[in-house]
Amino acid sequence: DDAGVPGRVRVAVRLRPRNSEESIADADFADCVELQPELKRLKLRKNNWDSDTFEFDEVLTEFASQKRVYEVVAKPVVESVLDGYNGTVMAYGQTGTGKTYTLGFLGEEDTAARGIMVRAMEDILADISLETDSVSVSYLQLYMETIQDLLDPANDNISIMEDPKTGDVSLPGATIVDIRDQQSFVELLRLGEAHRFAANTKLNTESSRSHAILMVNVKRHVKGRDPTLSNENVSHMVKTLKAPIVRKGKLVVVDLAGSERIDKSGSEGHTLEEAKSINLSLSALGKCINALAENSAHVPVRDSKLTRLLRDSFGGTARTSLIITIGPSPRHRGETASTIMFGQRAM
Ligand code: ADP
Ligand code: MG
Repeated sequence: DDAGVPGRVRVAVRLRPRNSEESIADADFADCVELQPELKRLKLRKNNWDSDTFEFDEVLTEFASQKRVYEVVAKPVVESVLDGYNGTVMAYGQTGTGKTYTLGFLGEEDTAARGIMVRAMEDILADISLETDSVSVSYLQLYMETIQDLLDPANDNISIMEDPKTGDVSLPGATIVDIRDQQSFVELLRLGEAHRFAANTKLNTESSRSHAILMVNVKRHVKGRDPTLSNENVSHMVKTLKAPIVRKGKLVVVDLAGSERIDKSGSEGHTLEEAKSINLSLSALGKCINALAENSAHVPVRDSKLTRLLRDSFGGTARTSLIITIGPSPRHRGETASTIMFGQRAM
């Protein structure tokens, strides 16, 4: 299993169950895809007798639970963050296919439905020591190449800073909140969601047109000597290791803008600009992911704010999971095909 292999992007596909409208309107039609989870294969129907077959790292059917999706897609990334590495979990797909359900569902009434953000924080809080370690979060929206603070709406133009020596990315203006318990984290997510809705109403846009980005910083003080060191190596290092080692990891969870082609009629004024901006960031992301998949020395991170923001959280020693979400409807076969191709190019 290569769940923990750094550098390479791990790609899972998740099919949303038919909603009630699709169950009725498309009752006579087969789904546009057929999943073979044991073989990690997906078949995309071309017509009644022919289909194309694709392989993924994981194939999650409409029956896959939120728990299973977390374990397959996010848990290896969270574990490496706890070990002091950076990591990214992203969801890519057409609006309405389950990106936010997969990543951001709070599941306050039904804990089985909790999404990746909530489960990740639960695992982090269970693993760290509140006396010596810390976990803090920032929550942002990236819209039309502008970064807005979802924890402080007045903060609507945050800049990205990159350390020229280490390549570390930081957002000097963003609100950072220390998290000590699960309940306050869930409340923070809810507050961020409310701010996001208000900001988008003001801008006359929809949340599907922007990226939502949760950044979780974990700082741990590891006491004692490193158990991975052999005895011979240790003797001369004991002195330096008496001071606690600080281990920092960063988890970035990205709920990407809807990947569908936006109607370019321009009937809503800024639609064309939005479309261009979304295309810019998603295609820049695609290029970076392809470069990683091809082991290319040049990953073009500078092309968009999205990729600049992710620069220290994918590639290198970072773990990256991409979940592509698709719907079953034969009417959206075209968009489903293009989502599948995006996922294929990442592998
Ligand atoms: P997106 O964020 O990609 O636009 P959403 O996450 O908002 O899509 O999902 C659209 C609708 O489908 C929501 O009502 C959501 O609760 C529902 N949904 C998505 N995925 C699933 C799933 N795996 N099981 C049950 N309901 C789902
Ligand atoms: Mg969404």
